[in-house]
Amino acid sequence: MTHGQDGRIDAVVVGAGLAGLTAARELVRDSHSVTVLEARDRVGGRTLDHRLADGEQVDLGGQWIGPTQDRVNDLVEEFDLDTVPQFDEGLDQVSIDGTVNEHDDALRALPAKAYAELMDAFGQIETLRTQIPLHAPYDAPDAEEWDATTVDSWKRATLETTTARGAFDALFRALFTTDPSEISLLYFLTYVHAAGGIEVITGVEGGAQERRIEGGAQQVSRLLATELGEAVQLEAPVRAITQDDSGVTVESDAGAYTGAYVIVAIPPALAGRIAYDPPLPARRDALTQRMPMGATIKCIATYEDPFWRTDGYSGFVLTNDDIVGFIFDDMDAESTTGALVGFIVSNEARTWSERDASDRRERVLDDFARYFGGQAANPVEYTEQVWSNEAWSAGCYAGNMTPGTMTGYGDVLREPQGRIHWAGTETATQWCGYMDGAIRSGERAAAEVSSRLT
Ligand SMILES: Cc1cc2nc3c(=O)[nH]c(=O)nc-3n(C[C@H](O)[C@H](O)[C@H](O)COP(=O)(O)OP(=O)(O)OC[C@H]3O[C@@H](n4cnc5c(N)ncnc54)[C@H](O)[C@@H]3O)c2cc1C
Repeated sequence: MTHGQDGRIDAVVVGAGLAGLTAARELVRDSHSVTVLEARDRVGGRTLDHRLADGEQVDLGGQWIGPTQDRVNDLVEEFDLDTVPQFDEGLDQVSIDGTVNEHDDALRALPAKAYAELMDAFGQIETLRTQIPLHAPYDAPDAEEWDATTVDSWKRATLETTTARGAFDALFRALFTTDPSEISLLYFLTYVHAAGGIEVITGVEGGAQERRIEGGAQQVSRLLATELGEAVQLEAPVRAITQDDSGVTVESDAGAYTGAYVIVAIPPALAGRIAYDPPLPARRDALTQRMPMGATIKCIATYEDPFWRTDGYSGFVLTNDDIVGFIFDDMDAESTTGALVGFIVSNEARTWSERDASDRRERVLDDFARYFGGQAANPVEYTEQVWSNEAWSAGCYAGNMTPGTMTGYGDVLREPQGRIHWAGTETATQWCGYMDGAIRSGERAAAEVSSRLT
């Protein structure tokens, strides 16, 4: 831990993910003393590197970065890390309601009418999202109406064919790891707007899935933590936060820490599990009860070679037919090893998180084989991460707002409560839900606290 001149910590940070570590780094740069309390025995939170038997490094958590994600790109450059483009050559496969279609531009694989409907819906999303002020989405002209509408109701009113609806569901689940019936249209539009549009959020080249960090995304957090040194305390789950006029006391399993301020840099749903004294205002508490985490199981199978490339496939699949909702080729263009990464998402992920690991593996590999042939059922290695079973994530990729939440409680998302400030990707106004948003949120929270300390 680093101490201020009077022996007191200026700020305690809860959570050593990208948000918490960035906040701590910014505070230290402003000459403030900081302690970061992390529940796990590692840093990086929703990013997690995994080394395969052959030495290749893959991501079991957050993976892709892209243009306009300036903060994460800056850190990658600053730490001298390399990035590799997502492999994207050959035929994509889209399987909706039992029919598999192929095209080198995934959505164009859909039947013409379904594709046209979907493109029209995308156009509407683009028109609507630009009416939303990102710092105050609840002030959008139609905020009340959009927040009372689920994405599913909007889809039913907008898309006619079952194929277009099925494709929209598959795409939505891939992006939000939750079902369209669970979140509001206002939140959906805000999230898309915060990323710069529907093309950006769904895209590979020029989009959110453009590149990955060679060696794994968790490296960024490890490098930040190395810089912070002893200020980062692992295996220190925070259970309670008490505040009064003089400061805060943060009680963790590794002991109690006293500081002037605290930055809680964890998802709202987990922030709601900390005991606060005095209790948080009802509207802040209500918010944390209305941002459930999505659900993902990330599954990676490796092969001696990327045989699907030889067969003319890119490795990309989008489907509403299987437990795996989407698949990507997980190696770069030059790699001689083959790897497929599949995501079980939303309710399938919640259901399958309770199943036996060997049943899950068999079912996932069956799904892979459906698209890439029997060879895909016999990997050299298989690994997975069940994010819903992680106590200190409780799901992934992020917490999403249910209907009525943004207009009812959205104004308290970033509002400090006394000496408590809030960070985490869910609080970002740009690239909310992404690694970039996490970093931005940490910078914002650090600036808030810094301005109170000086
Ligand atoms: C499978 C998967 C795929 C993803 N894909 C992408 C992608 O391709 N691109 C992208 O940009 N993003 C992606 N994301 C999202 C991205 O990983 C997150 O947005 C980002 O890492 C969140 O950072 P954070 O610091 O806000 O939160 P977290 O990473 O969740 O950090 C919070 C930290 O707080 C700790 N913690 C929780 N509760 C407590 C407590 N009570 N006391 C102490 N510590 C606590 C946790 O252990 C954790 O380390 C993905 C996530 C997952 C899981």
